[in-house]
Amino acid sequence: MTDPVLELGELTRHFGPVRAVDGVSITVGRGEVVGLVGESGSGKSTVGRCAVRLDEPTGGTVRINGTDVTRMSRRALRPLRKDFHLVFQDPSSSLDPRMTIGQIIAEPIKLHGLAKGDAVRARVEELLGQVGLRPEHADRHPHELSGGQRQRISIARALSVDPDLLVADEPTSALDVSVQASVLNLLADLQRDRGFGCLFITHDLAAVEFLADRIAVMYLGQIVEQAPTAELFADPKHPYTQALLSAAPVPDPVTQRTRERIVLNGELPSPLDPPAGCRFHTRCPLAVDRCRTEVPELRTLDGGRQVSCHLVAEDGTAPDASSPVHA
Ligand code: SF4
Ligand code: MG
Repeated sequence: MTDPVLELGELTRHFGPVRAVDGVSITVGRGEVVGLVGESGSGKSTVGRCAVRLDEPTGGTVRINGTDVTRMSRRALRPLRKDFHLVFQDPSSSLDPRMTIGQIIAEPIKLHGLAKGDAVRARVEELLGQVGLRPEHADRHPHELSGGQRQRISIARALSVDPDLLVADEPTSALDVSVQASVLNLLADLQRDRGFGCLFITHDLAAVEFLADRIAVMYLGQIVEQAPTAELFADPKHPYTQALLSAAPVPDPVTQRTRERIVLNGELPSPLDPPAGCRFHTRCPLAVDRCRTEVPELRTLDGGRQVSCHLVAEDGTAPDASSPVHA
């Protein structure tokens, strides 16, 4: 990848003893969509917040467009803010209820001096059109709009500064199922037209399959597998990824078969005291003795896929967690 817009290097975010994010490396190229998936509590939202410096990493590096912003002061960061944006799960929390939609979208445009006077309103109306809304919506307040329309507004606001990087954290999960697809389609269209890089954080596997070029799977604060989307869905190598995909009610795109459901033991352990060895060993149907003591490193296989599991062979041959064989 020649031109990354986001590079996270061994990122950590500890909250006191809680190791929410523990050594995560992800790169997002210009125009690329990288999906970050994992169950709630895996640390994926914290990665997103650190990536846009809404949260302070406790270790590792965050680079945006090649610039190390890890420890940059808020003041030094301000002019760079137009390069990256975060879209949240719940748009209501990020839209000031006292402001009109026009003011909300205009704010970053004015802040970064991208337009002045009448040109601001023209730009706002153009952005409203791009997210499928009408010029009149500029004079309304957030509470007068539906959840789907509010999420369109936060997308318009994020894109008003033409960012190189958009971090979208569960952008559709607070919306009615009936409008989720239209918001995802909008994001996909805008991404294709504008070519921004996107870190798309979600637990919705159908959404990530639709949007992402590449997927990173998180478990308890760490990446356990990373691969191009089609390869990950066709041939998930890590037992946790296999379990995640088996829980999704989407048939295999090639065979049209739904995968055999892999049921994991127990709950996600606490990041306060992650299991020794492989962090997944307490729930892995394939765990062997060495998994309880030896940490599997995240290895890069031929072709660039990454996986951290003792049982994945050097040539990429992976075990099948749906039929554990106990030797
Ligand atoms: Fe399961 Fe062991 Fe592989 Fe971890 S290293 S995923 S416990 S088989
Ligand atoms: Mg979250």
